Amino acid sequence: MEQEKTNARTIETIMSDVDENLLRMLEPETIRILEKVEKITGLPIRVKWESNNDLEYDNVGEIIGLVDVSGIDKDFHLVRCNPRFVGHINHTLVHESMHILRRWQAPFNKWKFLALPEQNLWTTIIGTKPQIKDELIELIKRGLLSPSESYNFFCNWVRDVLFTLACIPEDIRIEMSIWNNYGFIRKEQIKSLLVQIMDVSELYDEHYAHKLGCPPTLYSLKLAISSAYIIFACCTLGEITLLKQSKGIKEFDMRRRLLVEGLDKKDRGFIGDCSDIDRWAKMLGIEGWFTWIIGKENIQQILETKKGKESLKR
Ligand SMILES: [Zn+2]
Repeated sequence: MEQEKTNARTIETIMSDVDENLLRMLEPETIRILEKVEKITGLPIRVKWESNNDLEYDNVGEIIGLVDVSGIDKDFHLVRCNPRFVGHINHTLVHESMHILRRWQAPFNKWKFLALPEQNLWTTIIGTKPQIKDELIELIKRGLLSPSESYNFFCNWVRDVLFTLACIPEDIRIEMSIWNNYGFIRKEQIKSLLVQIMDVSELYDEHYAHKLGCPPTLYSLKLAISSAYIIFACCTLGEITLLKQSKGIKEFDMRRRLLVEGLDKKDRGFIGDCSDIDRWAKMLGIEGWFTWIIGKENIQQILETKKGKESLKR
């Protein structure tokens, strides 16, 4: 009886925000995972379709979705799905559910949010990678960036690099776990990983950074992090041809190191993900670029202030 009640509630919540076809696309195992999230966290999942722009992620590449993992200021977890991945909805929902479960399985006082430094972003970044200043000047000189926009572009790219850093180590663990434990979505997972491999492969064009008005150092960081994920995806899928294509890229060694030396041998859940992020940041020479906001209570306070807007959701 209790079980039936939970079923009805989860489905109702899902239905409240999406088109009717979604429910028909969900596998029974997916619904069970959504129910598990609700049972463990006390909050149901709500799904919303949003394009890349709505997801406030418009720099490079596309993401399958985002989830507000904290559930702090709402009575549900909002999973924001990219409509482009509608054919992989089971995979997307399981992936985002795992973000929630990994966090909620850690004690609240170990919860962390990665945030930009409170002040002096410019000084902090230029202090560690001074060449970025010259690269910005060069972009302006070549007419690829207007002087009035350059600082905003700089901030956006730094944010983008850190957002990628905050996501990728955990995404690798999640995809690995889906591959090993959730065979029922294997077909969707393969499709989703292939789309992501293709998206990132487009970024290998060396002139791309200039086209986007991005300082090459920031671009190279972004590429090293996101293509570490691509090596992982190619190896998982056995896509040797795609893997070979990316071997000539100069970031190849770094991203291989990120995978081989940067990831803890054991999956230690959310706490391990945070250590992996710190280790990757150190390997990339950007460990001073962000701070951690620690503890669920502190996160709550920060969300209520303006500074909260600067936190990067994980
Ligand atoms: Zn993810």
